[in-house]
Amino acid sequence: MTKFIPFALPEIGEEEIEEVVDSLRSGWVTTGPKTKQFEKSFERFIGSEVEAVAVNSATAGLHLALEAIGVGVGDEVITTTHTFTATAEVVRYLGADIVLVDIDSETLNIDTEAIREAITSKTKAIIPVHYAGLACDMDAIINLAAEFGLKVIEDAAHALPATYKGKNIGALKSDVTVFSFYANKTMTTGEGGMAVTKHPELAERMKVMRLHGINRDAFDRFRSEKPAWYYEVVAPGFKYNLTDIASAIGIHQLSKLPSFLKRRQFLADRYHTELAHLPLVLPARAPKGDVHSWHLFVIRLKDDAPVNRDELIQVLADNKIGTSVHYVPLHRHPYWQDKYNLVKEDFPVSDSAYFTMLSIPLYTSMSDEQQSRVISVLQETLR
Ligand SMILES: *Cc1c(COP(=O)(O)O)cnc(C)c1O
Repeated sequence: MTKFIPFALPEIGEEEIEEVVDSLRSGWVTTGPKTKQFEKSFERFIGSEVEAVAVNSATAGLHLALEAIGVGVGDEVITTTHTFTATAEVVRYLGADIVLVDIDSETLNIDTEAIREAITSKTKAIIPVHYAGLACDMDAIINLAAEFGLKVIEDAAHALPATYKGKNIGALKSDVTVFSFYANKTMTTGEGGMAVTKHPELAERMKVMRLHGINRDAFDRFRSEKPAWYYEVVAPGFKYNLTDIASAIGIHQLSKLPSFLKRRQFLADRYHTELAHLPLVLPARAPKGDVHSWHLFVIRLKDDAPVNRDELIQVLADNKIGTSVHYVPLHRHPYWQDKYNLVKEDFPVSDSAYFTMLSIPLYTSMSDEQQSRVISVLQETLR
């Protein structure tokens, strides 16, 4: 009996389990000392004196980031059509409009020239997504934002850790960068996310808004004069705080991230070598000296491949190998299509990439033997 190889799998060790048990035994299960510790460790990991704000999902982090920069009704925010719906839905939470643009055919990242063409007098912000863990062309995006007075919120759900021109994603000159700790990401807390920023006023606003709009700093300032039960609500905030149970997992996942990355790089390199001669477009690597997180390994079938994408997924499934597709582009989802009258002709690169792409298994606990099985099936099917 061959065992099923899932598309993705978290790697949780005894350290995480013991830390969670410690939280449970301590009686402090919601946001507390472990979350503070997790934020401090995350700040050190990213460097460049960023402030980290732990949240219960990247979606929550993106929402808080957009709220903090003042996105609201009448504003437009530009992002890629080739992303998860969370990137765009948060813009609608605030009553603003999303403007989707096409991607670059090589990197599958947002097309910078398409951003320029989409800018109007209503544009407030750009949300680049570092697709699969490869950094976007951030100099171009940040320059464009400066030229038009726009904010930049990075969706770095795939990009932990990744670098751009030698700097960690999270430490660039954008306004806020948001990471995800969802179960299939490069590290996990079950559910969770982290928003990082170099701007203290944005960090403060996100901290206030992640917990009901309660102004803790004001509370602390007046602590000596006010009783312990007193607090002040300064805005209708959200319930987006991360629990200490989740942070207990995150503390250890973060410390394992360098070794997780090594394993992902090894698996990605091996796929690149072993699949090079097949009728496939293999994923773009990071420029020399930079880090690709290898959250995803997305292959695209060339025209001369003997099977189509759906057939290949079926062959892999028949061989007990899990796959996924990242993504059904947003312009093909009923809500986005109807809301903005989107047509596929406006997104030719994303649209054609979608029909030929699939993501193959890549996760830290994947064994060499498991990867050999994936490689063999691809070689036998595509040669
Ligand atoms: C996973 C993901 C998100 C959402 O992350 P959550 O932590 O699940 O909210 C947002 N954007 C992209 C590109 C993602 O892959």
